[in-house]
Amino acid sequence: LVVLSNVNKHFGALHVLQDIDLSIARGEVVVVIGPSGSGKSTLCRTINRLETIDSGTITLDGKELPSEGRELARLRADVGMVFQSFNLFAHKTVLQNVMLGQLKVRKKDQAAALEKAKSLLDRVGVGSQADKYPAQLSGGQQQRVAIARALAMEPKVMLFDEPTSALDPEMINEVLEVMQQLAREGMTMVVVTHEMGFARSAANRVVFMADGKIVEQATPEQFFSNPKSDRAKDFLSKIL
Ligand code: ATP
Ligand code: MG
Repeated sequence: LVVLSNVNKHFGALHVLQDIDLSIARGEVVVVIGPSGSGKSTLCRTINRLETIDSGTITLDGKELPSEGRELARLRADVGMVFQSFNLFAHKTVLQNVMLGQLKVRKKDQAAALEKAKSLLDRVGVGSQADKYPAQLSGGQQQRVAIARALAMEPKVMLFDEPTSALDPEMINEVLEVMQQLAREGMTMVVVTHEMGFARSAANRVVFMADGKIVEQATPEQFFSNPKSDRAKDFLSKIL
């Protein structure tokens, strides 16, 4: 569904993505892990063109990603993204947050957008918060609203960049459970996370990055029990 071939990206002299080849099948859940600064966020951001690339290609559903214009807006709608820092519209209610993209980008009518927003908010367990503003919600609730907002666009793939890192410990599970459910329903997902329990139980594949390269990739069973590279062994010894 998503194919990156020979992708390179620099920030000035820093070669932040080096010859990245990665292909993500429909329905696959790929967890990306690696040390800080290894390029995980940049990788996510290139997939929906929040970052440009210097060379290589990225395709979604066989089509090369547009880098500007109306095509780009459509692409962004097909690639849902959830960030560490929820990024909800502060001056709009929860319900409006989940309706907005449906109205503006997907051109749905008010009634259809409302119905979908309500059902998604129920699904992620925050239906009773629909008329509040983001600041009136807990971090875990805000992040679940952010997931509902992304899902409202009916994306082909969902990218999660450390969705639970900014949350208090007791709120992490409520967000991970929503993500587990999505994975079970067959959503294609790329998840950058330090939650190894989630990686073990939900991932089809673990991709380990270091210094802008994909150093190894394997099933969670293989990766956690038998990492091949010294970089991965070293990383796992620090976090497990
Ligand atoms: P973390 O685990 O800390 O989130 P990461 O693996 O997500 O790290 P990135 O955020 O992708 O890493 O950053 C990779 C490298 O690129 C880092 O050295 C970072 O400082 C650098 N970098 C990221 N964004 C920019 C930018 N806009 N301009 C310049 N350098 C950047
Ligand atoms: Mg990051």
